[in-house]
Amino acid sequence: VTGNLFAALRAAFPEDLDSCAFECADGEGLRYSWRDLERGTAMLANLLLSLDLPEGSRIAAHCEKSVEALMLYLAVLRAGFVYLPLNPAYQAAELGYFIQDAEPAVLVCAGKNFGWASKLAFMAGVQNVFTLNEDRSGTLLDRAAAMSDQHSPALRRSEDLAAILYTSGTTGRSKGAMLSHGNLLSNALTLKDLWDWQPGDVLIHALPIFHVHGLFVASHGALLNGSRMIWFSKFEPRAVLRRLPEATVFMGVPTLYVRLLAEPGLNLEACRSMRLFISGSAPLLIETFRDWQARSGHTILERYGMSETLMLTSNPCRAADGARIGGTVGPALPGVSLRVRTAEGGDCATGDIGQIEVRGPNVFGGYWRMPEKTREEFTADGWFKTGDVGCVDENGYVKIVGRSKDLVISGGFNVYPAEIEGFLNELPGVAESAVIGVPHPDFGEAVVAVLIAKPGASLDPAAISSTLKSRIAGFKVPKQILLAPELPRNAMGKVQKNLLRQQHAGLFA
Ligand code: ATP
Ligand code: MG
Repeated sequence: VTGNLFAALRAAFPEDLDSCAFECADGEGLRYSWRDLERGTAMLANLLLSLDLPEGSRIAAHCEKSVEALMLYLAVLRAGFVYLPLNPAYQAAELGYFIQDAEPAVLVCAGKNFGWASKLAFMAGVQNVFTLNEDRSGTLLDRAAAMSDQHSPALRRSEDLAAILYTSGTTGRSKGAMLSHGNLLSNALTLKDLWDWQPGDVLIHALPIFHVHGLFVASHGALLNGSRMIWFSKFEPRAVLRRLPEATVFMGVPTLYVRLLAEPGLNLEACRSMRLFISGSAPLLIETFRDWQARSGHTILERYGMSETLMLTSNPCRAADGARIGGTVGPALPGVSLRVRTAEGGDCATGDIGQIEVRGPNVFGGYWRMPEKTREEFTADGWFKTGDVGCVDENGYVKIVGRSKDLVISGGFNVYPAEIEGFLNELPGVAESAVIGVPHPDFGEAVVAVLIAKPGASLDPAAISSTLKSRIAGFKVPKQILLAPELPRNAMGKVQKNLLRQQHAGLFA
């Protein structure tokens, strides 16, 4: 049997191929059947095969979210090539970096970018450039339309490369994580069982598809269960709310939950048909977790993962497996081993904070063309260093307290930003906060907090500072508390602390 992920997804299509696979919530409200998906991916796979590409060729997609773009991903798997999704917001400098690094054989871009994107591609030696637009026009589908709709999935071993996902670049330059068919399938099968996917489940898909969350976790979940997706090419809170009563599963990054909470229509009634709300990609504020419980009657299931490893931990889904605990990301997934290590490389005691390391069938093969970096990020005994800092409690629940790169060392003391942010976020009038370290002549680094006020609230940094002094050790209290209208975030809702550190680098100079 083949280890091709597409074959496993295809085997899960429902018997009735004419039933609905995708229902577009925006635009003309198009519906796609499972047969459309079967035929569309076959035609696209045949188009790719007609190009005579060498084995292992990368197919880069720099286009807006659409069902056809997802079909392109599935067709790349089907034909046995390597999928390379790119954020469509990337401009020339960014696209240039990724194309030169990944050297794709094919670039699919939006027609409106064809001028500059094809020039970049040409300079980097990319032989084939197609266009795919939001309205389904463009040369990709024009060419595919002439292809046969019969195709049997390429034979692939589970260790063969399926996709290269560039990390979000939160801590530095994005790296290409090489993921195999087996990495993706094993993780998808684990989540299918753990999250209790059921007949009749309907997924609201409102995440971008250039990243693990929307491309893999959400799409594979629905496909592997033969479940219909209500498909949003862009997240729009009111539109999502309108469709909630028809759905059972929703996945979002924390900012999506915050934006939904801002809608008065979010209430018990709107969520009555829902089975599961899942959050991940960035920390979910405990306040959001609680507000959501109160307003929707549902407890958000928070999980944790990354480009290099796919999903690692998850709060329980079934009540029999335990409670969903806010502020934690739950226990390690079945089949995933997770340990917390001290800086010296020993095991941390239960509850102690240290470096999170993982192993399992979900862990990637290495960074694309970065053998040095790959070696550095694995321990001698084969564990991947996630770069996240956290602890595991006596029940096995993992808590993330930050990233090792965000750790602040002030006057020789370790300060974990997430701990301080936790205190700040609980203060009245504080919507959210980011704690960073900036260079300081005496302390090496000084703790600095950037606060965002709730609408209508006004914050007094001096008062906040004295409140903190009565609650936490002096070395943890920010030397400066700054107010800002918002935090810099990337497309996945992650706070870009590197930008904040740059912005405030001169504070104590
Ligand atoms: P880069 O590696 O390029 O700096 P990145 O780590 O942000 O970027 P991703 O792979 O997209 O790129 O994100 C993975 C990271 O997201 C994890 O290492 C973790 O820090 C964070 N993360 C994911 N889920 C959660 C969660 N539920 N709670 C807290 N952090 C999370
Ligand atoms: Mg990372």
